[in-house]
Amino acid sequence: MMQWSRRRQSSWIQLAGHQGNIQLGEGGEVLKRFNEVEDTCLQALMSDTLHQFVPRYYGHISRNGENYIRLEDLLSGLKQPIIMDCKMGIRTYQEGEIVKARTKATIRTDMYQKMVKVDPTAPTEEENAQRGVTKLRYMQWRDNTSSTSTLGFRIEGIMTENGIVRRDFNKTRSKEQVTEALLLFTKRQAHILEAYLSRLGALKETLKESAFFKSHEVIGGSLLFVHDCLTNKANIWMIDFGKTTPVPDNMHLKHDVPWVEGNREDGYLLGLVSLISLFHVAIME
Ligand code: ATP
Ligand code: MG
Ligand code: MG
Repeated sequence: MMQWSRRRQSSWIQLAGHQGNIQLGEGGEVLKRFNEVEDTCLQALMSDTLHQFVPRYYGHISRNGENYIRLEDLLSGLKQPIIMDCKMGIRTYQEGEIVKARTKATIRTDMYQKMVKVDPTAPTEEENAQRGVTKLRYMQWRDNTSSTSTLGFRIEGIMTENGIVRRDFNKTRSKEQVTEALLLFTKRQAHILEAYLSRLGALKETLKESAFFKSHEVIGGSLLFVHDCLTNKANIWMIDFGKTTPVPDNMHLKHDVPWVEGNREDGYLLGLVSLISLFHVAIME
């Protein structure tokens, strides 16, 4: 078992998110730092029609005083996984963040520095003077600089063969730029592009049926695209429910209408429709 686990560890990769938040467990499962919101979602998802698009959830475990959520490893069994993380939705901040920014804005130097690194002209005079931005301002800037606001999703990272990882998609915004990234990811292989299209179509149909989806605002959730050159398998999974929250009982979200503050809409389906259309474009290239 130990040997197997070590072998897996060498090709296992955490593409997006804070490095170290997620690790491979000894039994081959994925351990993600415990978060109550995410844990509740995963439990509910196991009995929803969406369960076929979500990694299996095995409860929690405590390790060195830290709690972790145990999940199915979506890379398990793949010899040479090629993966892409797409963050879904037309915004990546919760409505609560706006309220927080209005009432008690903390100025973040780390986020200011990240912003300047990508675009030195992005901060305002005031932000330059205080060498800081609010978290909300940073997140809104990221959404507008990437394809999040316009296409309803953005590419967070891609790992191509031999473990080469690219996370430099901050300014990948236009349909042409995204299509180029999809072609890089799939190496233009028609059967892989078609397999992804078919899975995206199935996901869209299932989302329309899902009671969970109707009743939850999905913020910061990703689709993890995984294929293997050697086995020709391609799959897509919904991951990251840390900011997915239920709406009141009398509210049903559509997920394909514009967001105005208070309506809780996330634009998840707008992103899915964009992805489907760009995969179609990629096949024709
Ligand atoms: P964020 O900063 O986006 O909130 P996070 O810390 O919540 O990130 P996730 O988005 O859940 O973390 O996962 C980060 C990365 O870890 C994914 O991009 C993927 O590469 C990997 N990952 C997550 N869950 C799994 C899984 N079940 N199987 C395999 N890989 C996974
Ligand atoms: Mg994530
Ligand atoms: Mg997260």
